Formats: sequence, structure tokens, C-alpha cells
Amino acid sequence: MSKLSLDRILQSQGFGTRKYCRELIEDGEISINGEVVDHYKQTLDTDGLVFRIFDEDWQYREHVYIALNKPANFECSRKPSHHPGVLTLLPEQFSWRDVQPVGRLDHDTTGMLLMSDDGPFIHAQSSPKRHIPKVYLATTAEPVTDELVNTLLNGVQLHDEPAPLAAQICRQLDTHKIEIVLEQGKYHQVKRMLAAAGNHCAALQRTAIGQLTLNSLGLAEGEWCYLSPEQMALLI
Ligand code: URA
Repeated sequence: MSKLSLDRILQSQGFGTRKYCRELIEDGEISINGEVVDHYKQTLDTDGLVFRIFDEDWQYREHVYIALNKPANFECSRKPSHHPGVLTLLPEQFSWRDVQPVGRLDHDTTGMLLMSDDGPFIHAQSSPKRHIPKVYLATTAEPVTDELVNTLLNGVQLHDEPAPLAAQICRQLDTHKIEIVLEQGKYHQVKRMLAAAGNHCAALQRTAIGQLTLNSLGLAEGEWCYLSPEQMALLI
């Protein structure tokens, strides 16, 4: 059981500075089980806590674990330069609580992007030691050949990499489509591997991370959801 004062709770959930959260509370903006709570020092058990703010129910979460179906033309960088950042697709509370992308997708890549404010989780998910497979659907500029698939499976040497990188799985889905599974998360890896194998990536979508598939989440582009413990357990 974890007890916190209401102003700290609101601040931890990303509703603004402590001062602003106290103002919200004193203005009667917060209610719990239908009753306004206007004392910011009131301590509450955070386990399973749901409070109402701005006419919406908000469940207390110590950390958030989110999957976003990223559309094209959004940047994963914290300081986006040419396109809006992916955080603009989420409620503003998540920016306040420092939610960050887990790894990065290029601005023109679509599909599953995990986001969280849990540092150790972000670190563990991004660690190359964990070999978490990432599944991509790549549309190629030139027709897919058996040779392309075999080259990607056997490994290609990328500039700046000490050893060749190989796809864990690669299979042709259509004349200009492959599914490619990678265990590493190198910069522009799919695009660079395709280029090194003599083709070119025309479009790229991440369709799964570990055993968690984008399809199973049922998210339209630009939509996001909290991940359940069962879904988190599939991220291996
Ligand atoms: N590989 C790429 O080339 N781009 C991505 O966004 C992800 C993997």
C-alpha cells in the first residue's frame, strides 16, 4: 500500500506543478467516489485509486506503459525538428510525467511504438543483450527476389558496423513486400540492410515487438492504449 497526499498524486500523474495541482484541488476540480476533495494535504491510498478531474475519470498509475500505432510524419526525438513529435499524439499529462519512446522509429516509419516513463523498463526493452525480436513489414522499391531474401538472412555488412547483420526471419509476402524480423535495433537498420542487399525501402511498418502484435491491439493509426500485464508479458 502506498499513501500520498492528493497534491503529490496529481503532480505524479502529470497534471502540472505542485502549486497548480493545489489550486486545482482547492478549486474543487477533484472528486473521488462522487465527493469533492478540496484539501490538498489529504492522504490517499494510491492502489486502485480513481479520481475525477475535468469531468473525466483518471486511474492512478505509478508508471505508464503505452503502445502507439505511429503514423508517418511524426518524430520520435525529444526535440523534433521537421515534424511534430509523437508525444503530441498523447494526452499532455504524459509529457509532464516524462513519457518517452522506447527506442525510435524513423519519421516515415509507421506502426508499433512503445512509450513509458519507467526508466528501467525503457532501458531493459532497448538493451541489445535482450535480443527482443522486432517484426517489420517492408515495401520495396524493386521486386523482391529469392536472392534478396537469402542475402538478408545470410547477413549484410553495413558501414560502421563491425560485423555483418542478418535478419532472424525474412520472408516474401508479395511482389514488393517482405516481412523481416530483427533482433538488433541499429539506426535505420531495415532501410540500410535493404539498400546493402541491392533494393530500396519504399515504406516501413513495425508490426510486432516480441510476441505482441500490432493487429492484436486493434489501434488505428494515431491511436494508443495502455498495455495490460498480459500484453507486457508478450514483450519478450
Ligand atoms: N529500421 C529502419 O530503417 N527504420 C525504422 O524506423 C526502424 C527500423
